[in-house]
Amino acid sequence: KVIGPSSGDDERKQHDAALRPKLLKEVIGQRKVAERLEIAVRASQKLNEPLGHILFDGPPGLGKTTFATVLPNELGTSIQMTSGPALSKPADLLPFLTNLEEGSVLFIDEIHRMPRVVEEFIYPAMEDFRIDIVLGEGMSARTITYSLKRFTLIGATTRSGMLSGPMRDRFKMHEHLEFYSVEELATIIRINSGKLNTPITESAARELARRSRGTPRVANSRLHWTRSYSAAKHDGSISEPIAKAALDMAEVDSDGLDKNDRRYLEILIDLYGGGPTGVEALAATINLASDTLSDEIEPYLLREQYITRSPRGRVAMPRAYTALGKLPPRPKPD
Ligand code: ATP
Repeated sequence: KVIGPSSGDDERKQHDAALRPKLLKEVIGQRKVAERLEIAVRASQKLNEPLGHILFDGPPGLGKTTFATVLPNELGTSIQMTSGPALSKPADLLPFLTNLEEGSVLFIDEIHRMPRVVEEFIYPAMEDFRIDIVLGEGMSARTITYSLKRFTLIGATTRSGMLSGPMRDRFKMHEHLEFYSVEELATIIRINSGKLNTPITESAARELARRSRGTPRVANSRLHWTRSYSAAKHDGSISEPIAKAALDMAEVDSDGLDKNDRRYLEILIDLYGGGPTGVEALAATINLASDTLSDEIEPYLLREQYITRSPRGRVAMPRAYTALGKLPPRPKPD
């Protein structure tokens, strides 16, 4: 099956799982984070205590799920995975809490999207490994307390700012994941092409890395596409010219910006005169959810200084004009 440049969600999850590092030493980059986690793991083993609850935040595709799945491997325990939107009421958490094993991990992705009632239900589980269930209503209501196995909650969020203060305070460790360097992404690409039995040259790995928006998940998807492109048109191996041709065909430009990035910049510049413009207006014009803009598109554009954020909204920077082959406006006299 040929995988398109933007493969679907299920396909993506399968690729991610197959290419995910299994142990901390296989994780590339994020050295400081990995070192602190290493310490926490060793301490938990020596003290025979469960690992403290951990919150990972950062833009999508930077390895939050990777870290969450590596930790139980290091500890030799199991992991259960769910997500904030799947937990609409406290009862949705019960199967996970009752299936816990001593020291095992419960991973909640997009934890900022968990409703407040579920959040409050989970507090005693996080603090004292117990849950309180209220039976009946009004005068006859009574609370039954269940004790749970000692476990580690790992939360992942693209928006730590949306998490309530009390929830955030209950995590022992907060780890922020940053974008990756070209060298780190090139290493990930080389390792993953090995896993996919695809020969790749050093310069091709760098070319894919340079055009992957600082994001391992994007690097994996560019690699999959380039591999399919080569299998269809060449011999299945990846050289620099093949990588370039495959990415050009996928409409990834030489800076690594994709169609959505360019559309965002075009609308900001052509329709809104370069801003400042509110994210809601941009989202409505681009016809994407404003969450997609602020979680997936903007973090990289901000980091690479294509745009900035001002109190009145987003503003295009000179680099955005250059990327679209336009002349930047002259600075206004003060
Ligand atoms: P989301 O929050 O949306 O789940 P994520 O940040 O958890 O995204 P992952 O699913 O962990 O992202 O990462 C996607 C893929 O990128 C992994 O399958 C893995 O191949 C690769 N990857 C991510 N981080 C690393 C890393 N530090 N070293 C090596 N490979 C990595």
